[in-house]
Amino acid sequence: KQQTFYRDTWVEINLDCIYNNVVNIKRFIPNATEVIAVVKANAYGHGDVQVAKIALEAGATRLAVAMLDEALHLRRHGITAPIIVLGVVRPQDADIAAEHQIAVTVFRKGWLQEAEQSRMNDRPLHIHLKLDTGMGRLGIRTKEELIELLPFFHMPSFYIEGAYTHFAAADELNTVHVEGQYKKFLCMLDWLKEYDIQPPMIHCANSATSYRFSERVFNAVRIGIGMYGLTPSVEMNSLIPVDNKPAFSLHSRLTHIKKLNVGDTVSYGATYTAEEEEWIGTVAIGYADGWRRSLQGFHVLVDGEKVPIVGRVCMDQLMVRLPRYAPVDTEVILVGQQGEAEVTMEEVASYLDTINYEIPNMIGARVPRVFK
Ligand code: PLP
Repeated sequence: KQQTFYRDTWVEINLDCIYNNVVNIKRFIPNATEVIAVVKANAYGHGDVQVAKIALEAGATRLAVAMLDEALHLRRHGITAPIIVLGVVRPQDADIAAEHQIAVTVFRKGWLQEAEQSRMNDRPLHIHLKLDTGMGRLGIRTKEELIELLPFFHMPSFYIEGAYTHFAAADELNTVHVEGQYKKFLCMLDWLKEYDIQPPMIHCANSATSYRFSERVFNAVRIGIGMYGLTPSVEMNSLIPVDNKPAFSLHSRLTHIKKLNVGDTVSYGATYTAEEEEWIGTVAIGYADGWRRSLQGFHVLVDGEKVPIVGRVCMDQLMVRLPRYAPVDTEVILVGQQGEAEVTMEEVASYLDTINYEIPNMIGARVPRVFK
């Protein structure tokens, strides 16, 4: 069901793109490899429930999120597919996770002790053991730490469903770091075998790894950015042979247009002064929507042409300089295509000195998502 809204600014999510991107990714990886669709952070700002459903239709078999609340949100919306929480769940919430059949990430003895003590229901909690092979974020790093965890893996309260790691630099041209992590992962998997711990799921691959090292993905891949049709890094643009299409575009409209005289100024601080007679349009989006104030000087598309954002970006509105008159209600594209012209997520990211991942995430909940 589409969200009802009464404003001239919206995100369009093309679900066909998500579907095709998942299908494309499946072509890269061995047949028996499961696709885990990473839909954390409201599916990178795309809409978690809708993306989860289409990804599952396209052949993903599991979902991954960052926190328990995100997993429960999916459950409340009728999603029954297996879900893994990749971040840290509080041990006192182990029961809630088990009750909703949500698998959690574990790596700390203290956590398992507390979770075990807090358990009230008798459903085994599905756990994925996180191995820190060089990301330096979560996971066990030594055999001693593994040995401390072993008794818990045999308790009826826990079922060890998976073991995994995360690569820190799979999207970089230089492969030294990812090679090192891969070797460490193999070595840590041997420790598990040594103690006869053989979880059915072994996974290490994000999008970049799945594209580049598809022979090393074990039996599941965790796909985020590729599913959204974006490349994991600028460096990888030249490396990835997939033709995934961005699903996200950001739209608004002109809500006002006026002609300025020479010397007239625009917006807070009067940082922009008209040097000639100019058409200035007002657009119904601002930094409260996530369209950052530092995007002053960047451009948007009007009538298939790039036009500059002039003056400061306000909380709910911004101004653009137009080459000619355009009527109120004219569509403005902030991210996406219009005619032959395009503003890519990468351009916005580069202007803001960040990565494409951050851009759909930064467009706030105040901007309705429309699914096509
Ligand atoms: N796996 C883990 C543990 C993650 O944190 C993420 C996202 O950051 C992913 C997989 C998906 O990565 P990507 O979006 O690069 O495919």
